[in-house]
Amino acid sequence: MLGQMMNKPLLISSLIEHAQRFHGETEIVSVKTTGGLEQTSWGQVARNARALASALTNLGLDPQARCGTIAWNNRRHLEIYFGASGGGFVCHTINPRLFPEQLVYILNHAEDKVLFIDKTFVPLIAGIQDKLEHLEHVVLMEGTDEEAAAQLPGIKFYDDLIASGDPEFIWPDLDENTASSLCYTSGTTGNPKGVLYSHRSTVLHSFGINLADSIAITAKDVVLPVVPMFHVNAWGAPYACAMVGAAMVMPGPGLDGPSLVKLIDTNHVSLALGVPTIWLGLLNEADKIGSKLESLQRTVVGGSACPPSMMTAFREKYGVETIHAWGMTEMSPVGSINQLLAKHTKLPADAQNKLRENQGRPVFGVDLEILDDDGNPVAHDGVTQGDLVTKGYWILDSYFRKTRSETLNKDGWFDTGDVATMDPDGYVTIRDRSKDIIKSGGEWISSVELENIAIGHPQIADAAVIGARHEKWDERPILIAVKAEGQDPSEAEILSIFEDKIAKWQIPDRVVFTDALPRNATGKVLKRDLRESFGEVLING
Ligand code: ADP
Repeated sequence: MLGQMMNKPLLISSLIEHAQRFHGETEIVSVKTTGGLEQTSWGQVARNARALASALTNLGLDPQARCGTIAWNNRRHLEIYFGASGGGFVCHTINPRLFPEQLVYILNHAEDKVLFIDKTFVPLIAGIQDKLEHLEHVVLMEGTDEEAAAQLPGIKFYDDLIASGDPEFIWPDLDENTASSLCYTSGTTGNPKGVLYSHRSTVLHSFGINLADSIAITAKDVVLPVVPMFHVNAWGAPYACAMVGAAMVMPGPGLDGPSLVKLIDTNHVSLALGVPTIWLGLLNEADKIGSKLESLQRTVVGGSACPPSMMTAFREKYGVETIHAWGMTEMSPVGSINQLLAKHTKLPADAQNKLRENQGRPVFGVDLEILDDDGNPVAHDGVTQGDLVTKGYWILDSYFRKTRSETLNKDGWFDTGDVATMDPDGYVTIRDRSKDIIKSGGEWISSVELENIAIGHPQIADAAVIGARHEKWDERPILIAVKAEGQDPSEAEILSIFEDKIAKWQIPDRVVFTDALPRNATGKVLKRDLRESFGEVLING
């Protein structure tokens, strides 16, 4: 016997429909690519999204046609998120900082028919346009612009497209398993791989984000997604905000400390999401200009490990709670969130703060397990480490144009590529990415743990640890450090900060000072590049 409840499909259009009907006046503030702010509302974003869906339909695109975006976080991008997916097309967000060859690969692999671009990226597309095999329409996310038209003949203008569409367009009734959006992993090795989200997985992920022990966005929040919309759908924030009618501040291209502090202060941002490097710049600037970040209540930090020193700075200087989250493109991305349990509320503040440092517990909808080399679960004792694997409502089943057996293990788990421990309460600590963990003799050393210690030191602005080749131990950790402004510590001074914090054999063998760490477009340190530059220093002197 089946239940007798309505079987209403879980659709992205239902999110924007709700925002339009019940939060229509809630403000969306957006930094323009050409500078300055513009103000709109969920109601207007929704009307434009409907108009866009109708205009795309009028272009004669097939259902599920991929509509690429190469764009900053702004209100037009938000409209495309809902308009393209809601209209039954696939919103394919593309990372502009990839090498041109990778962009060509991705656009051809996805068979993008339409490409929406911000003005910044006109020269980039002009350079590769003749290699894009399936592209039919390039749309500049602006009004008419002669300069862009001269560089990209035939380019269409977003505002014209919206004007040609129907703002009352009725959202199509799709199967909830229909593909809604597509995002390629950064692909530090091999070709990028596509993750094809569905309407259902996206809506369920939004519920997951909004659970009270998760990120819990509410209608009272003003949300600043600093995490780019081309990085796993800005961690799902646009959908989760529409679901609850939160106000949004879209930061545009300027993600430097001064721009962000100003945006937060002038727009009363209460919740901001981003990777640790972004917050380094923000904290420095707030310190410099004496901003108290008065309105900011919470930051969600993920993408790489949040250094405990950053949480302390947010908490002690600004009264901001840091929510440490872990996930990945293949997981939509949220896997685990750090929130305390009832029994922890009785602990002293220091002990609570310590507990908040790990990557947290699985959100309902995500299952996590840690496997040994033979594929058996390890003890959840907080010490035994293994490969972190996952299953769940918003975890990929197979990469785009690949099979399930190429994607999952024989038991249906997706291997995250992270090495982790889990404690008896289900709190996960990411020790490292499996390819970055340092194998010194028979022992494993977590580069993340060493980096957290180094970054917490006032004489260091930034740091990464890699395994360098070693004749006796195979690999030993070395620290690549960027000195803080006006500081000139010696190698011995830096190494002394590790004493008493970790076992002697884990202390790096060498410190190499450098001016800046190489990072990818999503703020992650490119350890492969560091290994190429410095991986032989212990052998070659
Ligand atoms: P890519 O896999 O292409 O680097 P993702 O953004 O999907 O891009 O990265 C996911 C990876 O980022 C995770 O597998 C993990 O190694 C790392 N990561 C994400 N969040 C955290 C975190 N809070 N702490 C430590 N590592 C993290």
